[in-house]
Amino acid sequence: MRDLVTVNRSLILHVAWNVATGKNAFLTAILKAKYFPNTSFWSAGNNSTKSVFWSSVMQVKDIIVNNCIIQIQKGNSSIWSTPWCSIWKEIHNHLNLPVTVQNLPQKISDLWTPGSMNWNADFINEVFDSDATTAIQNTPVVPSDCNDVVKWRPSSKGSCSTKEAFRFLNKDLQVQLPTNGARSITGEAMEILRKVWKHKLIPPNIKTFAWRLIRRAIATGARAGSLSSKIVKNCDSCSMIENDSHLFFRCSFARAVWFSARPPLRSSMLPFEQDGVQEALAALITRTTSDADLHRIWTTLWYIWKARNDIRFNRKKWTVWQVHHAVQTDIEIASSYNNTCEDTGITVVDPSKGNKILLQVQNSHSAGTLQQGGRAEGIQRHEDFQMGLPSNDITCRLPVMPLGAKCYTDASLTTDIGEQQPRMAGIGIFIIDPVRRHKFFIKAQVKRSTSVLMAEAAAMATASTIIRLLNMNVVSFLTDNRSSEFLQWG
Ligand SMILES: [Zn+2]
Repeated sequence: MRDLVTVNRSLILHVAWNVATGKNAFLTAILKAKYFPNTSFWSAGNNSTKSVFWSSVMQVKDIIVNNCIIQIQKGNSSIWSTPWCSIWKEIHNHLNLPVTVQNLPQKISDLWTPGSMNWNADFINEVFDSDATTAIQNTPVVPSDCNDVVKWRPSSKGSCSTKEAFRFLNKDLQVQLPTNGARSITGEAMEILRKVWKHKLIPPNIKTFAWRLIRRAIATGARAGSLSSKIVKNCDSCSMIENDSHLFFRCSFARAVWFSARPPLRSSMLPFEQDGVQEALAALITRTTSDADLHRIWTTLWYIWKARNDIRFNRKKWTVWQVHHAVQTDIEIASSYNNTCEDTGITVVDPSKGNKILLQVQNSHSAGTLQQGGRAEGIQRHEDFQMGLPSNDITCRLPVMPLGAKCYTDASLTTDIGEQQPRMAGIGIFIIDPVRRHKFFIKAQVKRSTSVLMAEAAAMATASTIIRLLNMNVVSFLTDNRSSEFLQWG
């Protein structure tokens, strides 16, 4: 999770920058009074009373100090405590001793020939030794009436925004990543990571997952099991040793997912690695891989991982097509956020009020804009197909991904055990209509549900009522409930 560490550090770096440059005058004044009353931020030590906030600022202070420079304009900065020339940190050591000058210069402009903005060589030579004199005389001045400004050198704009701070720290981090040894990252894998990171639609959780997978930080059975004898090293689907290669590409389940993906992939042909999947990913994702394919590949990997965790920790087994539907939904949701669908706002359902459904729809397009031709698109072709895998006996049946409006429902309820006590269930409904460009997220509670099946049914019944209210004609229902895996309602 080093990326989060970087994000956090970049936020602190940005705050330190604001303090250093006095962007937030009030905050700077408070901090100065408390932590560096007699000097500037640049020379502030780390020995005063600590607060968590100030300690974290002090941790990144060196980065600020080493990467900032004062752009001299009016010459109003202190020569004793600001980064104005190359020898500023040890400037006291360059004083000519004993000090013979009556009034020691304070500001940069004190070193200029009076009435000009040129270095006063004689005076400087009198105060400082020859090294310092040379360094000072080589310091550029941008003559202007404005106050001196602090510039962040790594950025062309000179400002350390949070984005620039992250870019700087991230670049720094990548340089530190080893290119050989057990923790190494290949150039190709780094390239994939960059592509994922820049991708506009891949959600942050999957980006983080990509980072962890490439950095070999996924807690597979083999990896976690090597740290604790209590963790089973074997795969829950097929009991072979579960390393990254096995989990994501070699296991019969993963192979079935990839083989039934579009386009189909024989993942057993990918390079097998003892540790990590960098070579396999490099074979799968190349320079020419489109953004859409990259999105699909990573979303698929993510759901293979989720399916694996569900079987390991929840004893819940996914079917291959559940993975595909989850991938498809995830991609549709991500794409709809990106502007293909107008946001229709939050929809509120309150079944507790006599099961009357309250619907609030904002920005919804009127039904009149729906064209007749659009409806035909919603009709699904019943064209299930079957395929066998070449090297094992798993066969999966996949319904064709339905076109047109879809409604996903799910319910969460504690598992049915023994007597069926009525209990609270949460239901979730997601409706997406690509033709009318609608999407709805609905959350609701069922107060007295006696079984998981009842909760699932309540979710579907609520969804169907909403769909009727919305005058949607052909909708495919999708749910992860086994007993009603695929229904069409129209
Ligand atoms: Zn397996």
